[in-house]
Amino acid sequence: MDFKKSQKLYNKGLENLVGAVNSPVRAFASVGGNPLFIKKAKGSRIVDVDGNKYVDLVLSYGPMIIGHRHKKVQRAVNKALKNGYSFGASTENEIKLAKIVCNAFPGMDKVRFVNSGTEAVLSGIRLARAFTGKNKIIKFSGCYHGHQDALLVAAGSGLATLSLPGSKGVPEGAVKNTLIATYNDLESVKKHFENDDDIAGVIIEPVGGNMGVVIPQNDFLKELKEYLHSKGALLIADEVMTGFRSKFGGAQELLGVEADITCLGKVIGGGFPVGAYGARNEIMEMVAPLGGMYQAGTLSGNPIAMAGGISTLTELKNQNPYEQFNEVGQQIETILLEAAKKHGVEITVNRFGSMLNPFFTSTQVTNFEEAQTSDTKKFAVFFWEMIKNGVFLPPSQFEAWFLSSAITEEDIEVIRKAVDKAMNKVAQN
Ligand code: PMP
Repeated sequence: MDFKKSQKLYNKGLENLVGAVNSPVRAFASVGGNPLFIKKAKGSRIVDVDGNKYVDLVLSYGPMIIGHRHKKVQRAVNKALKNGYSFGASTENEIKLAKIVCNAFPGMDKVRFVNSGTEAVLSGIRLARAFTGKNKIIKFSGCYHGHQDALLVAAGSGLATLSLPGSKGVPEGAVKNTLIATYNDLESVKKHFENDDDIAGVIIEPVGGNMGVVIPQNDFLKELKEYLHSKGALLIADEVMTGFRSKFGGAQELLGVEADITCLGKVIGGGFPVGAYGARNEIMEMVAPLGGMYQAGTLSGNPIAMAGGISTLTELKNQNPYEQFNEVGQQIETILLEAAKKHGVEITVNRFGSMLNPFFTSTQVTNFEEAQTSDTKKFAVFFWEMIKNGVFLPPSQFEAWFLSSAITEEDIEVIRKAVDKAMNKVAQN
């Protein structure tokens, strides 16, 4: 396996693109080496420009839940393309996708489509402030909610990968209303409320996916919601990653908690740029044109993206792969644990449905601090050996691996062999 063409494109890309990428995690910064350039993908497999084939556990960081280039999605998108790409006026498909989404999330009477998860969350936060008339927002360290100024503190994903506490260019004023709590620790939330009656709500990834996978313990979310309501504050669920992935109705369905405001992205567009935020009527009626909270978008509800979303979600609902995800996830977890044991490598595996990852630590991982006990050098060795043996993983210890319903038994055998070799390599280093 060589990466000559990727290497060449990387060098060329450096001239006019920052780090030759359009999103920092794609730069492979924490695993060393240069990024791969992708040529195409189909089903569960992805192919780079050198012709190397991989079982894809990145899946575009989540959206490709039914695999790449599903024929029903391609058909729907091709059909939409024939009518035009963008009109700046409403189309019937927006209503169809809205119905699918509102039916899936019982706490949502109305939804507004945007173009990314970042936009979904920044609008959801604005809405929480508009509805409560309060200014402050609590976020958990290690959770990532997109790159809006106010939430780029103690964030996961690329910031965790690059060990950045926050971002340059974010003015102090932009984060002065952001408070930080510890995941799975209700007391750390309560502390903020002790001397403060200006807190609009708490934003949470109901299952953490941006510090690696971190699972809410026991009744953490239920207790959090109860507590927030007792204080007149809102629960804002950032289900950009978990929406339609943990269950069709997101992590909220699986965990039995209804958020006040829900933010969506990734799977909702099936690989096309779609985000959304939604809530019950009394909250959504704050949004323009019904109310005084302004939020807009030239390409919002884009007809091609809507066709991608409708066809993906319709197929996903028909397939109902959540049981399969549990089984395959369990298989991969076992593969990781057995190989680690065989080669004497200490790992902890966290898994929630179709999201999982190994942490190279013996510590249980229930929050960001514990995630950071992982040995990222070992992860880097593991990562490259997985690549060389045909498994495409996110190039960071702090990103979740994703499953699609297109995964096959043959793919799992590829993963089994690769994991064995990779753990062996880690043990030798
Ligand atoms: N929220 C969460 C939970 C995410 O995982 C992400 C992206 N990984 C975002 C928000 C931001 O979404 P986007 O990259 O589409 O702006």
